[in-house]
Amino acid sequence: MAIPISQMWTVAAYVLKQRLKGRKRYPLVLMLEPLFRCNLACAGCGKIQYPHHILKQQLTPEECFRAVDECGAPIVSIPGGEPLLHPQIHEIVEGLIARKKYIYLCTNALVLKEKLDLFKPSKYLSFSVHLDGQKEHHDFSVCREGGFEIAVEAVKEAVRRGFRVTTNTTLFDGADPKSVRAFFDEMMDLGVEGMMLSPGYAYEKAPNQELWLQRERTKRLFRLILSNRKRRWVFNQSALFMEFLMGLREFSCTPWGMPTYNLFGWQRPCYVQQDGYAETFEELLEETDWSRYGPESGNPKCANCMMHSGFEATAVHHTFSSWRGFLDTIRATFSLYEDREAAEELEKLQPAPHPWELVQIGGTNRERAS
Ligand code: SF4
Repeated sequence: MAIPISQMWTVAAYVLKQRLKGRKRYPLVLMLEPLFRCNLACAGCGKIQYPHHILKQQLTPEECFRAVDECGAPIVSIPGGEPLLHPQIHEIVEGLIARKKYIYLCTNALVLKEKLDLFKPSKYLSFSVHLDGQKEHHDFSVCREGGFEIAVEAVKEAVRRGFRVTTNTTLFDGADPKSVRAFFDEMMDLGVEGMMLSPGYAYEKAPNQELWLQRERTKRLFRLILSNRKRRWVFNQSALFMEFLMGLREFSCTPWGMPTYNLFGWQRPCYVQQDGYAETFEELLEETDWSRYGPESGNPKCANCMMHSGFEATAVHHTFSSWRGFLDTIRATFSLYEDREAAEELEKLQPAPHPWELVQIGGTNRERAS
């Protein structure tokens, strides 16, 4: 199944409307975090280190709807924590579908199979399954042996029942480009609608601080992975953002394009940094000193960032800002990025072993979820 035309049309019409209104800053995707607790404890996660009393809390459906209405973005991504642990997640999803929002419900899929009955297939709902590569790499990344198989079973079942399913993959230092490419084949064989990629961000709260990619290493890694593509690989993200990851174009960060709302309010400035909170979306837009953020600002926390939450909205804005941007996007969508140098480098590459042992952080899924 491909991205519904209605979703593409909704996004295009929304962006053009914002431009006609002359809005300098507008949101494209709301990152709605209804809770931080999770049934995994990944080494690269910046969310699950909150104290227990915070991990026990969650947004009510009404608080979620208020944020969605206030923001007005046509797409709502629901990360976490693990959103399927929210006891009213199906009510939140139903309320968003009633508002005609396109939803990406991000999940590690450990409990997806048993929760599928709570949902009905809809063009507005996509399960965005977190899979960080082939079995060995994913289990290593999420610090949980067997996590890959459970997620794959859930993907198969969701696809079988007619749900939209995408994957989201975060790549860290040491990722094996050959294995990532083989992973793309496996995911397309499973029948997912498309795949999303992002380099990891150096969360201050993450337990393992050794796995972050620097900018130049990020570009090299994505060039090896995304050059000489197979036509059957489908990606569920901006083609120009992918060119940015490959180092083929530069973009500035537009963190207001993917604002984050969670238990603390509207997070400044973006999904990955926490520089305080605003009470309203308007306050976030109007009272944040945006000049302090983005790689060119000199802010060390932004120096190596190439996250989708900062740069994908810039890429989408670029698509609709001129005929040139639009034509660039069409060319990028159909290009296979033939690159002999990248192919030769890939050929010579020997997979490096993981630099440390897989550590499973204590407790069963249910213990951590309670
Ligand atoms: S560069 Fe990255 S960390 Fe800095 S504001 Fe943008 S998205 Fe956030």
